[in-house]
Amino acid sequence: MPRSLQTPTAHEKDIHDPLATLRTKFHIPADTIYFDGNSLGLLSETVQTRVADTMAEQWGNDVITSWNKHNWINLPLTVGDKIARLIGAPEGTTLCCDSTSLNLFKVLCAALDINHGRTEVLSTEDNFPTDLYMVQGLQQLLGERCTLRLVPEQELLAAINENTAAVLATEVNFRTGRKLPLAELSAKAKAQGALTIVDLAHSAGAFPVALLQHDIDFAIGCTYKYLNAGPGAPAFLYVAPKHLESSRKPMQPLFGWLGHAEPFAFSVDYAPAKGIRQFLTGTPPILALAAVDAALDIFADIDMADIRKKSIGLSEYWLACMADEGLLEIMPSISPDKAEERGSQLAFEHEHAYAICQALIAEGIIADFRAPNYLRIGFSALYNTYGEVQQAVSSLATIMHERRYENEAFQQRNTVT
Ligand SMILES: *Cc1c(COP(=O)(O)O)cnc(C)c1O
Repeated sequence: MPRSLQTPTAHEKDIHDPLATLRTKFHIPADTIYFDGNSLGLLSETVQTRVADTMAEQWGNDVITSWNKHNWINLPLTVGDKIARLIGAPEGTTLCCDSTSLNLFKVLCAALDINHGRTEVLSTEDNFPTDLYMVQGLQQLLGERCTLRLVPEQELLAAINENTAAVLATEVNFRTGRKLPLAELSAKAKAQGALTIVDLAHSAGAFPVALLQHDIDFAIGCTYKYLNAGPGAPAFLYVAPKHLESSRKPMQPLFGWLGHAEPFAFSVDYAPAKGIRQFLTGTPPILALAAVDAALDIFADIDMADIRKKSIGLSEYWLACMADEGLLEIMPSISPDKAEERGSQLAFEHEHAYAICQALIAEGIIADFRAPNYLRIGFSALYNTYGEVQQAVSSLATIMHERRYENEAFQQRNTVT
């Protein structure tokens, strides 16, 4: 790579990193520094092998008997239990299935039904759009039984009131990386009789989450970001045990046969399975679920507190390197200054952010751009190094100081940014 060598500081930090060996489990593309694990995590050897084995041995040789023989039928629950460990949820409360968007639809319906005297879903103006769209779709379906109220993020807690049926909050803002205080959010919601739905898309696998401890009612999230389960891998869904225990009728309206109490009785009428299983819909994507299962094995012996510590170490070092290069004046951070108030990403504002990102990619440094004008850097404690931070910021400095982003080639917009 035509970049400067590591500084002694970066080298020291990498030597003392207790998670350093985990990087060897991942396929790091040649000549690439990858800071986009918050959008799509890297492929690991563990996942590659498991998917290949599941195809060759289970599908290939055991074919349909695998539903029993390899317990495919329960995979959404067994994988769900592995996710539960990372998000502070007890066994039997978490499923791995469908997409985050679809799972949000299910838990929104459940929340509005439990809190049926109220209609208001309260969320933030700059929540990730799919979250808001799902509420808008439900609003079209339910009419006045569902209303969406949006407030600026900093006003969310104060805006919860006696009309709020459910607060829909994404814990980490996808642009700024700001991390909302879940304990306070939950306490305020409880005090006003509102339920909580938390989107953990940028939380699961990035830092410790304590859903049960914070008395969160519902949660959803992705597995293809910090959990590294692969493009479009099935999402997860959490329902607090108290709701699962007290439900007397189906909790959500997508009555799929695999959410039925006795799917193989093939009866005409729907009757929900007990517990979290009733949130299943149709046949699970086994190959993709096998990928999630394997991706989670990498987390089995890791303390999420160590992940958090390194993630903060990487982001603070990134900021320090940018300050050294005089970059923070020309492309200011829009992320909170305090590391504890951030997820595992940073974002910087510049009118040419799109072209800057393209110029970085041309150097083999993968970051991403978020409209209108932010450069976003995601940190994965499992595979990123301090040396990579130092090299990436050094390249960024060259791009900025030489105004390389003005190059015509970097202005062309792709479909996916
Ligand atoms: C990435 C992301 C999603 C993605 O939802 P999909 O249904 O998987 O496309 C949802 N919510 C948030 C907050 C996200 O960051």
